Amino acid sequence: MTAMTAHAPSSPLHVLEHVFGYTAFRGEQQAVVEHVSAGGDALVLMPTGGGKSLCYQVPALLRAGTAVVVSPLIALMQDQVSALREAGVAAAYLNSSQAADESVTVERDLVAGRLDLLYVAPERLLTGRMLATLDRLHEAGRIALFAIDEAHCVSQWGHDFRPEYLQLSVLPERYPGVPRIALTATADADTREEIAQRLGLATARRFISSFDRPNIRYRMVDKDNPRNQLLAFIRDDHAGDAGIVYCLSRRKVEETAAWLEEQGIRALAYHAGMPQDVRAANQSRFLREDGLVMCATIAFGMGIDKPDVRFVAHLDLPRSIEGYYQETGRAGRDGLPSQAWMAWGAQDIVQQRRMIDESEGSEDFKRRARARLDALVGLVETTGCRRKHLLAHFGEQGEHCGNCDNCLEPPRTWDATDAARKALSGVFRTGQRFGAGHVIDVLRGELTDKVRDWEHDKVSTFGIGADVEEKTWRTLFRQLVARGLLAVDHDRHNALTLTDLARPLLRGEAEFSLRLAPEKRRTKRMRGTR
Ligand code: ADP
Ligand code: ZN
Repeated sequence: MTAMTAHAPSSPLHVLEHVFGYTAFRGEQQAVVEHVSAGGDALVLMPTGGGKSLCYQVPALLRAGTAVVVSPLIALMQDQVSALREAGVAAAYLNSSQAADESVTVERDLVAGRLDLLYVAPERLLTGRMLATLDRLHEAGRIALFAIDEAHCVSQWGHDFRPEYLQLSVLPERYPGVPRIALTATADADTREEIAQRLGLATARRFISSFDRPNIRYRMVDKDNPRNQLLAFIRDDHAGDAGIVYCLSRRKVEETAAWLEEQGIRALAYHAGMPQDVRAANQSRFLREDGLVMCATIAFGMGIDKPDVRFVAHLDLPRSIEGYYQETGRAGRDGLPSQAWMAWGAQDIVQQRRMIDESEGSEDFKRRARARLDALVGLVETTGCRRKHLLAHFGEQGEHCGNCDNCLEPPRTWDATDAARKALSGVFRTGQRFGAGHVIDVLRGELTDKVRDWEHDKVSTFGIGADVEEKTWRTLFRQLVARGLLAVDHDRHNALTLTDLARPLLRGEAEFSLRLAPEKRRTKRMRGTR
């Protein structure tokens, strides 16, 4: 007998209370549950820790048949299944980590209709054998729904891309009438559209939760002596706390962990180049013991559910705002005050640009990678509220938050209103069809071949910005893009175009300021974090 029949007759709230032991739905959960239970398709965007699992687990128990959950993460699958079983739900998984006889049992239970939920890796779902089994269930009306977890894995531009996800488009063709729910915590507008399009969810109802994590304090410091800055940060603000330190390279991960240990801070290392057993052991120590610092590459973290991570530190620049948001989002899942701290320098930007330039990807891939990096740099360089900037990236409005470094200690700034206006006219006068590099050449009065070819030495903006350094122009353009006054057209060689947001500045109704070149200063302790 399944949990569903055991608890019938049922309502979403009844299942929530009696199966999961919670008293109320959070945020969008109830709306999603009702929509999917009634047979609708859904695209759910919720930050990490927001409670995505219940969005399909509750409908799974309310609808007849077995819910099939596609998940790319084996460890997470196992955790979820054991938690569900403890709650008395008939759940199982199929993946490559399993012994053959175990998977035979699961398949038998599936066919016999004994499962409420089946978690399955995408490559397994797409086998002829599995699809044939599902065909039979479908004919009998016994597929409750399909849930596609970590749906951003379908995005070819993200770093979690899984080619098998693209083939999940067979689901609506092969199993019409079965509701599908795709869930992700990563979704800027582009990724969102990509998910909707590639998974055949264009008409699915969208449930978009706020991405704000008010308990996380964002701080970005200028790199000076990063190790010592990190040490001071941990000692001053997070002595004895659990935290994650992200580094770009495996070597740096190991060196940082060893160095922290020497300084008396209990630290572990994690990266994909370590032996599997050591990696697994370190991960499980981090999850189970208190107050460990995990030094890791981004290989660490997806699907890690440790509620009391008090800080996430970056010693290197993440690849994108999405990456930064995901990584920092691992702090404070319990809702208590936590910090996202990053040390960065201009050198990091140069290094990442070079990595992109030298990478194997296509021109299109590189162009997008550059644009993502620029957006991140915009966040790093902003003089305004970091949270507001971050939320704006996800299409959300935010207010001055009072819980980021810029809100708490406003940085010294340069009034760049005049230069920004010149930049905008520069884009306009050259026809809104060029990238920043060329427009800057025009503004600075450089007689390059391209300038000559296009006769841009004859436009009125030629040379009007010769007094401003090229580096400063670059920063300014990045900020104009980051703050939405200019848009980048990725399909036209990153051509810049003016947006409506540029109008107030052009009309003289708005001002524009930039962060001044960093002055050297000691990392100051932020009060009131804990
Ligand atoms: P996500 O997949 O979005 O990262 P999870 O589904 O793992 O989030 O949920 C995060 C945590 O919040 C889990 O520990 C879960 O049990 C808890 N949770 C989710 N929904 C509720 C709720 N309605 N009431 C109480 N706790 C909840
Ligand atoms: Zn703020």
